[in-house]
Amino acid sequence: MADASMDTTADMQTCDVLVVGGGPAGSTIATLLARQGRQVVLLEKEHHPRFHIGESLLPGNVELFDQLGVREQVDKIGMPKYGIEFVPPDLDYCSYVDFAEGWDPTKDSAWQVRRSELDEILFRHATKEGAVTLEGAHVRQVDFDADGATVRAVLDDGAQRTWRARFVVDASGRDTVLANKFKSKKKNPKHNSTALFGHFRNARRLEGKREGNISICWFQHGWFWFIPLADGTTSVGAVCWAYYLKARDKPLKDYFYDTIAMCPELHDRLKDATLVDDAVHATGNFAYSSTHATGDRYLMLGDAFTFIDPMFSSGVFLAMQSAFDGAKMVATALDNPAALPAARQAVEKKMREGPRDYSWFIYRVTNPTIRDMFMHPKNVFNAKQGLMSLLAADLEPAPGYRRSLFMFKVVYYFVSLINFRRTWAGWKRHSFNVQDHGTLRGETILKS
Ligand SMILES: Cc1cc2nc3c(=O)[nH]c(=O)nc-3n(C[C@H](O)[C@H](O)[C@H](O)COP(=O)(O)OP(=O)(O)OC[C@H]3O[C@@H](n4cnc5c(N)ncnc54)[C@H](O)[C@@H]3O)c2cc1C
Repeated sequence: MADASMDTTADMQTCDVLVVGGGPAGSTIATLLARQGRQVVLLEKEHHPRFHIGESLLPGNVELFDQLGVREQVDKIGMPKYGIEFVPPDLDYCSYVDFAEGWDPTKDSAWQVRRSELDEILFRHATKEGAVTLEGAHVRQVDFDADGATVRAVLDDGAQRTWRARFVVDASGRDTVLANKFKSKKKNPKHNSTALFGHFRNARRLEGKREGNISICWFQHGWFWFIPLADGTTSVGAVCWAYYLKARDKPLKDYFYDTIAMCPELHDRLKDATLVDDAVHATGNFAYSSTHATGDRYLMLGDAFTFIDPMFSSGVFLAMQSAFDGAKMVATALDNPAALPAARQAVEKKMREGPRDYSWFIYRVTNPTIRDMFMHPKNVFNAKQGLMSLLAADLEPAPGYRRSLFMFKVVYYFVSLINFRRTWAGWKRHSFNVQDHGTLRGETILKS
């Protein structure tokens, strides 16, 4: 990232907090800090509205939008979403769960959104709340010293700008500006997937209240999302094990259609649909985490700190929640440095909790026992209630929540144990899937 040729004598401006990246995490913390009366500068390398994948939100987001004061705007662009449909590859029925079945039945809905629209709402809101926001400003260098940091950015026209900040927030998403600088980014060896996706017109959706629900469709090499958007288009993506994409031997679009054909139910829902702009995209999905999220003069938020598989649509929620938690820590760093070690510790703990809760399910989701439990969800020991609160991102809702999640795991381990052979085969397959298998064909590998 360091660029020795950058002109460090250019006019230097000062601020309390400089935020790198105007996605959900960056715009949220910029709003909250500006409300505290701080001088905040928010730099975004692109221009809103810009494309971003990650269109399915969770009920946990709603409260955060409320607190920011943007709920009405999000409601206008969003497709209401009340639950999840699970579509198995080998059964002739689907399973439906509703967020209202969680511990707090009022947290019953969220939205599917175009991220270009959502992220623009959040970014413009930060400006309205008093942050200085700049688009087309690519942060190239961050240097820390005892008093703060010097941040250098290059603008669209090649001009260079420099800021002196007392504190830096890295919300650069998967660009992970600070984790790269500190070499603190570690790939998660337990997960190794990639995504292929496109948008369709005229896809057959569920009917009635379920129309906006997300569908998760399993297939041999991973899982699909099916996300109905408010303008009538539907986002469809395949999250595949890395070996599968590496085995690609034809144009991306053809490969995507072949992949869809592996999931008969999805194939049927798309049989009369057309691909918008004829465009299919691919993105590496590799899960990672930085070894730490905080320092005396900095904080990493959202994907800039950690990325987990998007199966449960938790990314935007976790990014925004980390901004809410982080804003308190930044205030402590600026106003009461003596209390900073404790505040850092609290944020480090909190930022790991959510991803850890989701990851437990993500690592096991190819396991037949979990699949059975998702296909026949039962509320034994309130286990389903706990699961639904997690899937709604209502992470500390009621005293019984942790216990119910624990009981879900107890049931899982019990069922796994009595089906030992099936469990063992599932684990063998999972550890195979997460390995890097070069360019061999997935089909061949799976049969061998
Ligand atoms: C295939 C896939 C599917 C997903 N599906 C979902 C889903 O359904 N629901 C969900 O909630 N999440 C989903 N996610 C995850 C979600 O997209 C992210 O978790 C979320 O966007 C994180 O927000 P963020 O603000 O941390 O980062 P981002 O949204 O990535 O924002 C980072 C911003 O920083 C800017 N930036 C980067 N580097 C610089 C720089 N050097 N200088 C200035 N600006 C910079 C970028 O342009 C960007 O605007 C998905 C992710 C993937 C890969």
